[in-house]
Amino acid sequence: MKSTKPVLLLVLDGIRPDILQAAIEDGEAPNLGMLAERGEAVWDAVSVFPSITPAATAAIATGEAPAGSGILGHAWYDREAGRVIVYGAMRETVISSGPIKVFHNNVFRMNRDDLLAPTLFEELHERGVDGACVNFPIRRGPHEHPIRLKTIESYSKSGGRYLGSAVHGPKEYYMGDLFYSRETGASGRRGSGGIHRSVGINDEYAAEVGKVLLMKQAAPFTLIYFFKGDQVAHHEGLAAQRRYVTRLDGYLSRVFEAGGGLEQMLEDYAIIALSDHGHAPLFPKNRYVDIGSIHGFRVSFKARARLNARREIVVVPGGRSAMLYLREDVGERDVVEALMFRRGVDLAAWWEDGWIRVRKRDRGLRFRPGDGPLDPFGGAWEIEGDPGVLDLRLSEMSVSYGEYPDALNRLWGCMSSPRCGDVVLSAAPGYTFGEVAGGFHRASDHGSLHEADSRVFALASGVPAPRRITDVAPILLEYFSESPEHHVL
Ligand SMILES: [Zn+2]
Repeated sequence: MKSTKPVLLLVLDGIRPDILQAAIEDGEAPNLGMLAERGEAVWDAVSVFPSITPAATAAIATGEAPAGSGILGHAWYDREAGRVIVYGAMRETVISSGPIKVFHNNVFRMNRDDLLAPTLFEELHERGVDGACVNFPIRRGPHEHPIRLKTIESYSKSGGRYLGSAVHGPKEYYMGDLFYSRETGASGRRGSGGIHRSVGINDEYAAEVGKVLLMKQAAPFTLIYFFKGDQVAHHEGLAAQRRYVTRLDGYLSRVFEAGGGLEQMLEDYAIIALSDHGHAPLFPKNRYVDIGSIHGFRVSFKARARLNARREIVVVPGGRSAMLYLREDVGERDVVEALMFRRGVDLAAWWEDGWIRVRKRDRGLRFRPGDGPLDPFGGAWEIEGDPGVLDLRLSEMSVSYGEYPDALNRLWGCMSSPRCGDVVLSAAPGYTFGEVAGGFHRASDHGSLHEADSRVFALASGVPAPRRITDVAPILLEYFSESPEHHVL
């Protein structure tokens, strides 16, 4: 009988493929270098649109684009409820300083209420495969995990409006001092700090817990998430991310050592390491595109935004992407016209008669799935208008992508959601629309359809490497269903 090796999935938030390659060439990422060399390496894999962590991690965990997973980014406007739902831009910020509602939305609501597709943890559980998760934001599963942090426990018990006393996750679930399934020595050290101080959620912690998990018999499926490389790029830029990759490789080395060293791990495990999105460096000046005001329209902006008699547009920026929700009497074309020639606005997209229309300054195209040229992933499209808008290389038989990888499928996979804005914006390189609460990252940002933030790497050993981040879940489901002992009879 063929035996199935356990799977280790490593998600390295926001690390650009070229940055990792540079680190490997410099000899400063020997573990990831060896994984790339010995396994399969894809350097031009593709994220979803918007290329933002909640959307991208949901895509990895469910195999669904945002329209299928229901998670469209850091925030979206709930038309029925008339309010903006904010998951928070940065995990670190949400946990350490976020208001309790954002924390609630991020840790409880997103997985429990808003995630529409089953996760890998749920699907694998059905097949008799147990999972373990360290820090990954999308972790819904069949097992209940009580909150371990005293401050939050007492907040919940005191009848606070938000926060539950437990979440549902895989068999083993670890997130700093908040949730841990067994004592690893890494949790609980600062357990009295409360959510307004550090709760031990960081890459060091992920490595420590990963080490403990691999030292004994690991779960059949273990997912470990490292997020600091994204934060470093946001605040200090790509050179700093390059330096961070060296540290990250050191963390991975600790995890691999616990499994007997990478050489041994390649024998004993199937491994996938990938990033969820890329990063686009921002201009040092004038990088912020303030779409909180749009000429000729009354705009509602930030976390309390809503449509009403006095407000015609709700603007929800998400880094280098933005979603605009229009009141019924407001026309998409008029809004696009008002924005299209603003500095930093690259693309605008909206629905018209079952087609998605895309504008880039005064040029336009429209597309929909249908009888037409095939893209590199096998999707067939009807395309009319100027293919240059999305930098498409078009022939009768095929369409391939330039600056905007997998653009047609990614726009479709976002805009098909009823949670998506009526008009969607993608920023030009160097620019950002900032965060939903106002403010913006200084050095680098992501979210757009452009290749800078859309390209990711995927390294794999023992399983096929994904070409798109939505391939990860199907690849792993296939992997586990191939093994006889996991067949559900
Ligand atoms: Zn980020």
